Amino acid sequence: MWQEVLLALTYSSKEAFVANDKVSREFGTLLFTDADMQERLPKPTYKRLRDVIRHGKPLEIDIANEVAHAMKEWALEHGATHFTHWFQPLTGITSEKHDSFMTPQGNGTILMTFSGKELVQGEPDASSFPSGGLRATFEARGYTVWDPVSPTFIKDEVLCIPTAFISYTGEALDKRTPLLRSQLALERHAKRVLALFGQTPERIVTNIGPEQEYFLIREKDFEKRPDLILCGRTLFGCEPSKGQELDDHYFGAIRPTVNDFMKELDDELWKLGIPAKTKHNEVAPCQHELAPVFEQGSLAIDNNLLTMEKLKLLAPHHGLACLEHERPFDYVNGSGKHDNWSLAADGDNLLEPGDNPGKNLRFLVFLACLVAGVDTHADLLRMSIASAGNDHRLGANEAPPAIVSIFLGDALSAIVNDLMSGADVHKAKRTKMDLGVPTLPKVLRDNTDRNRTSPFAFTGNKFEFRMCGSQQNLSDPNVVLNTIVAEQCDRFATDLADVSESKFTEQALKWVIDSFKDHKRIFFEGNGYSSKWEKIAEKRGLPHFRTTPDALPALIAPENIAFFETYGVLSENEAHARYVAKAEQYAKVLNIEAKTMSYMTRHMYLPALFKYSGKVAESVARKQEIGITSQAELDVTRKLTEGIDGIYAAVGELEAKNGHAATLRSKPQTQCEFYRDEVIPAMEQLRKIVDEMELICGHDFWPVPSYNEMLFYV
Ligand code: ADP
Ligand code: MG
Repeated sequence: MWQEVLLALTYSSKEAFVANDKVSREFGTLLFTDADMQERLPKPTYKRLRDVIRHGKPLEIDIANEVAHAMKEWALEHGATHFTHWFQPLTGITSEKHDSFMTPQGNGTILMTFSGKELVQGEPDASSFPSGGLRATFEARGYTVWDPVSPTFIKDEVLCIPTAFISYTGEALDKRTPLLRSQLALERHAKRVLALFGQTPERIVTNIGPEQEYFLIREKDFEKRPDLILCGRTLFGCEPSKGQELDDHYFGAIRPTVNDFMKELDDELWKLGIPAKTKHNEVAPCQHELAPVFEQGSLAIDNNLLTMEKLKLLAPHHGLACLEHERPFDYVNGSGKHDNWSLAADGDNLLEPGDNPGKNLRFLVFLACLVAGVDTHADLLRMSIASAGNDHRLGANEAPPAIVSIFLGDALSAIVNDLMSGADVHKAKRTKMDLGVPTLPKVLRDNTDRNRTSPFAFTGNKFEFRMCGSQQNLSDPNVVLNTIVAEQCDRFATDLADVSESKFTEQALKWVIDSFKDHKRIFFEGNGYSSKWEKIAEKRGLPHFRTTPDALPALIAPENIAFFETYGVLSENEAHARYVAKAEQYAKVLNIEAKTMSYMTRHMYLPALFKYSGKVAESVARKQEIGITSQAELDVTRKLTEGIDGIYAAVGELEAKNGHAATLRSKPQTQCEFYRDEVIPAMEQLRKIVDEMELICGHDFWPVPSYNEMLFYV
């Protein structure tokens, strides 16, 4: 017996070895890495390129030419035929236009060429991207500019060059540029803080680990539902007989079809150098999650966007459709994207409580910066994750409420409370003092009970921002996070600039305690889903923006425009443009949803109900001919007829409201509010009646797959 076990173990470990070897052999093969550059570039060129990447030195055209040549050779060896400037317009998704490397020589032959100029700058005909008014149509051109910090990669035989997208007048038209600016602002001011601690790191970067949730359903069901195809979510559907109440999906065995899909996904992501690490089943039926190992902020966001693209594109290989919407189905959980965020100085995590008092003071300073930043700019954090899709999730008892608060966990909370109350931390059992600084318990990391109801939670050595929606580009929330921490670092560095060395520890600790005291209303350790919390939060004066139209104006509040301008992250024009783009996006999404509802109602549901009610009425009549009356058939006929009339009236009402909404286009805020206050209730009313009819209409007559059919077969 034991020999068999041993044999099995040996066998599986051998298999594992072969598999691992495949992974390490293939990891990053489609990524033009630093090692590739080093191998392919002459030493002086490589050194000058490193200076550009590491120290932000300007890029000279002769280097660009050499890099372009090396990149092209590498790309051709890896099967690429085209290149593209890959960028993130204000829609949040990625954009690309493919150009071939081919240059005809005029004699029937071609050369494969790629110049430094083509690498560095592009001019896509991008006049149709949202610009929030930043580009007048007469000067619709936008430029793409290479971001050498983000690695180039090959996707479907196309060399993808990550770029920023800017207008003719130099304003940012994309999500990447403000993110890079916010990273620089944070680095600059965090360096000033560390200088006061006698530390001079070369680089300070943010690290982000985005956990991505998504749903998988059968592609054949997906294809039958215009709402899923056009809107990414079901606009109709009665409650399934079974939901998630048995908790039988969460962390359950992954079914073979899904497993095959996840394997192909991992393979593809690994080739692109994306460190996809964990995968598991989530709470709702057919919901799943993928988490990569964290990486430098802008890279992690690029890779999350690529992951989302691959999720969608690979699912059909397995007869599946991937839904990334925040709320594909009512009655079960929606999908979020947790933004795990930390700050590292040359690889040293500044949110890691250390093993000596100096490090702990440093930790407390950065903690206080975060606390003060989150409280001061809760409105901007809320704004950064506002969208029509996320409105369905926030506050729906499965995701954090729309109120921003911070959860520290028992251990850290106790320390912060002791500090605020002036308790003698020397004597407190759980903490010891040295040089006036609490020695943070080493077990802090495992001590953070996971309060899943908190929107912003300390989880040992990082913060987890949990309000982000599953289909969002994480740039916006990270722009806000980086900038609010930069501001507080600036405040600390300025406040303590002239403090003598002997007084530094005492003064820094005082600054930390004052910050905690000034912002203590933001701490909340309780259940964020409870209605009590809403009331407490209101008493504390914490902002509560329930919907996207409530949340968006924060972006253009004068004090927030000044804040972004101070840190060089967004100009006033750029902030305005983003506000307009977000408001337009909200209105467009709702307009499409309303139109899809009206289409499905008139072309699918009403005809189905006419047919079914006609059949039942026929049966009633036929039975009456032979003197039989069925109460059930009479009741059903009556209910169906009432339902049909109700639906007919409701769809008319929705169309009228949606028609009026379109006339408000020139007033984005009014238009958004009209959608929220008038169009959404009309949508809900229509759905209610259609869903009631679904319950009594014959299965074979119903034109689309039901929740019962969609949620449990994958
Ligand atoms: P959970 O329990 O929420 O699943 P994990 O600890 O497994 O959390 O991590 C979730 C994500 O957080 C992963 O993407 C992981 O790489 C990332 N992460 C871990 N440490 C850090 C850090 N210091 N900074 C940023 N992200 C991190
Ligand atoms: Mg998490």
